[in-house]
Amino acid sequence: MRNGVDIWTRYGWTGDVAPIDKSGEPVFGYNIQRRTLDPILRRLTTNTPGVTTLFGCGVRALAKRNGVVCGVELGGCRTDLVSAPLIVGADGRNSPLATLAGSKPVYSENSRFGAIRAYRGVALRRGTCSQMWLRGPETGYVFPNDGGITVIAYMATKDRLDGFRINPGEALERSMAGFPDAPDLSTAEPLGNTLLVKDYPNLWRRPVVGNIALVGDALMSVDPLWGVGCGFAFQTAEWLVDTLAPGLQQGRPIAPALQSYAKRVSRELNGHRFFILDYARRRGFNAIERLNFSAAAKDVASSRHLHTFGARLIGPARFLAPRALLRAAWVDLRRPAAPSAQPHAPV
Ligand SMILES: Cc1cc2nc3c(=O)[nH]c(=O)nc-3n(C[C@H](O)[C@H](O)[C@H](O)COP(=O)(O)OP(=O)(O)OC[C@H]3O[C@@H](n4cnc5c(N)ncnc54)[C@H](O)[C@@H]3O)c2cc1C
Repeated sequence: MRNGVDIWTRYGWTGDVAPIDKSGEPVFGYNIQRRTLDPILRRLTTNTPGVTTLFGCGVRALAKRNGVVCGVELGGCRTDLVSAPLIVGADGRNSPLATLAGSKPVYSENSRFGAIRAYRGVALRRGTCSQMWLRGPETGYVFPNDGGITVIAYMATKDRLDGFRINPGEALERSMAGFPDAPDLSTAEPLGNTLLVKDYPNLWRRPVVGNIALVGDALMSVDPLWGVGCGFAFQTAEWLVDTLAPGLQQGRPIAPALQSYAKRVSRELNGHRFFILDYARRRGFNAIERLNFSAAAKDVASSRHLHTFGARLIGPARFLAPRALLRAAWVDLRRPAAPSAQPHAPV
């Protein structure tokens, strides 16, 4: 489903205000089930000319010649050696390939746990856009998906985890019911058990080790609170291809292109990662976040600016540019509180 997001804080709803791209068109994302997305990707890959797919096997070891990695050894239903001048680790958060290459992740604390469950027949109260609540240490989500499925998720600081251990489904529904305008889940049909993610520390690795490049979660897997997982996976894969393709097609050495890829990852993602990691340690908003969410609840332009940052179309430098902050401060002082505001709710 094409999607934007409407966010509630104690300042009220920001509205589902779409960012605008360079050609003046509104930008949207997608909510899509993995059971829908993954087969599409698999089909796209297997039908791409020049691609050989080997299912039922995986990388077991790195092959080396004169100390340089020159391919991978397979394990599983095939045990061949695959020679390659370049190896891409798109093998997820625990990245066996990065481990084989001796690249250790850097970790940082995530103070929140999460509970997540899919439902059918959720009576949505704010349309089919995604809805998110940020209320002090608590965060709630409603994600309408394809196939009439709605994914409900809740995160909170770990001091509340004990309340979820015995019956996570009941605790999830009770917690969601406390948010303003949340859908009534008592009439919806739960699909499967509630997944309780007790700890999900942030981790990231160097983008390039020798002739091995990492993309997606293998490169960086951070707090899911801001929903960047699949987006960053697609984005880093695209950057790698864009950087490498011209040189590979012309038979040039790959090392300079890999260095360009590493630099681009740092330039484009380090700022976002800093903010995500910082919030993962905290129980609520800092002064800048209060200002921006308060202005966004009162003013469409401020809301669009916030959504443009949330969609990662701009980085922290543009998000926090003096002009944008001045506008937010002006809006905050001059405009009345939004009708959906709850001034005494935690922030
Ligand atoms: C509970 C939960 C909820 C999430 N919700 C969201 C969400 O709502 N939105 C969002 O954007 N992100 C979400 N994420 C994050 C998202 O799942 C990841 O960011 C995304 O899947 C990363 O894609 P990837 O291709 O890098 O890694 P993965 O999806 O982990 O894929 C890695 C692949 O590598 C394969 N592999 C592993 N080892 C080997 C080997 N040795 N040889 C060959 N292949 C190997 C694996 O089998 C797997 O297929 C969620 C994560 C969790 C855990």
